[in-house]
Amino acid sequence: MSECVAQPQVDPAEDQRKINARMAQVKHKICVLSGKGGVGKSTVAVNLATSLAEAGKKVGLLDVDIHGPSIPTMLGLGTAPLISNADSVDPIYAGNLKVMSVGFLCQNEDEAFIWRGPMKMGVIKQFLGDVEWGELDYLIIDCPPGTGDEPLSLCQLIEEPTGAVIVTTPQQVAAVDVRKSLTFCGKLSMPVLGIVENMSGFACPKCGEVVNIFQSGGGEKMANDFGVPFLGKLPIDPAIGKACDAGLPFIQSHAATETAHQLRDIIKPLLELK
Ligand code: ADP
Repeated sequence: MSECVAQPQVDPAEDQRKINARMAQVKHKICVLSGKGGVGKSTVAVNLATSLAEAGKKVGLLDVDIHGPSIPTMLGLGTAPLISNADSVDPIYAGNLKVMSVGFLCQNEDEAFIWRGPMKMGVIKQFLGDVEWGELDYLIIDCPPGTGDEPLSLCQLIEEPTGAVIVTTPQQVAAVDVRKSLTFCGKLSMPVLGIVENMSGFACPKCGEVVNIFQSGGGEKMANDFGVPFLGKLPIDPAIGKACDAGLPFIQSHAATETAHQLRDIIKPLLELK
């Protein structure tokens, strides 16, 4: 698979035809975006995909965060070997969730991809067009952070995306970048399904009380300013970090906790998409 991925494809029309054919089998294509890295985009993507799969939906999770592919670690899949067919590649399964990640192309977790733009574009195209996604209710796409070339290419290659979920933290510096993500969606005519404010306060592991370490409410204000839905807040919860490191989706491993309930509420409107 690595050689096949390392070759940028040369016929853009043929690439697009293949992508369209694959994506036509996917009912909802949801991009998870953030203005900057480290705000919990992948954490939200993993838990969103897992809970949709738990609800009996057919779900794929595509990790295109080329320089920080954390989905394999978060799902305990490590550097699982990929199986290629004549002109396609099988996704890796985490339960009934179909997963594909740049991380699966690494020999070990410390490897870095030092690719120029066309190479990255080739990989993004192949992940959309050459992976055996089959028929899916949802494809959750963990996009590269920011509003640069990679998220732009990705969003343009999917002809009819359902929309974007935007993850932010409450601080002003993150909020400024997320406003850019909202403008980015507007320019690409990508519907915004909603904003998630992650790391909104700290949930004390002893008493459960939420303390606002950073200013809270920035995500909600932004949603109001831009007239897009606010999906909800998620506190900093040490159990989330531990679950991610242990390769367990938090929403499964801590199903009965207050934070898991908050996550489920955040995800509800996406489950209800027709
Ligand atoms: P991004 O995809 O935006 O770069 P990640 O989802 O990889 O961010 O999250 C960065 C780190 O923060 C991870 O170690 C993750 O476990 C941790 N994290 C994310 N959200 C929370 C949260 N609400 N509480 C505690 N840790 C979190």
